[in-house]
Order: sequence, then structure tokens, then C-alpha cells
Amino acid sequence: MTQEEKIEICQRRDKSYTGKFYLAVKSTKIVCNPGCSSKVPSEKNMVFYDMLEEVLADGYRLCKICMKEMWRQ
Ligand SMILES: [Zn+2]
Repeated sequence: MTQEEKIEICQRRDKSYTGKFYLAVKSTKIVCNPGCSSKVPSEKNMVFYDMLEEVLADGYRLCKICMKEMWRQ
């Protein structure tokens, strides 16, 4: 997938890409699945990761909407 394809997938909230890559939002420091129902960020705030571990290592927090089930206690 190219950067442009990932942006487009996030903008149409395509849930079929859940787990294939992650959308990190620079302005809020939140990481989402591509199909998240929260407000779609502007392109300049989008950063894409393949590994959730890498996103978290960069200081992003899990989205409370689309990653609720991944919150531990
Ligand atoms: Zn989300």
C-alpha cells in the first residue's frame, strides 16, 4: 500500500484493513485502526505504522473508540 492508498482507506473508514496497518494522529498522539469512526484527521497529521508496538514506543495512546478492547485494566 502506498501512503496515498492508506490515506484514502482511512478517509473512507474501511474496516477491512483493521490490523493491516495503524493510523497514528500527530496532533492528538492517538493511534487508531483505519476504520475508526472518530473524526478523520487531516492528512498532514496522519502517520502510518505497520506494528502496534512501534506506535506505542513512539508515545501514542490507544484510541478509546476503536481499540477499546485492547485496553488492559
Ligand atoms: Zn480510533
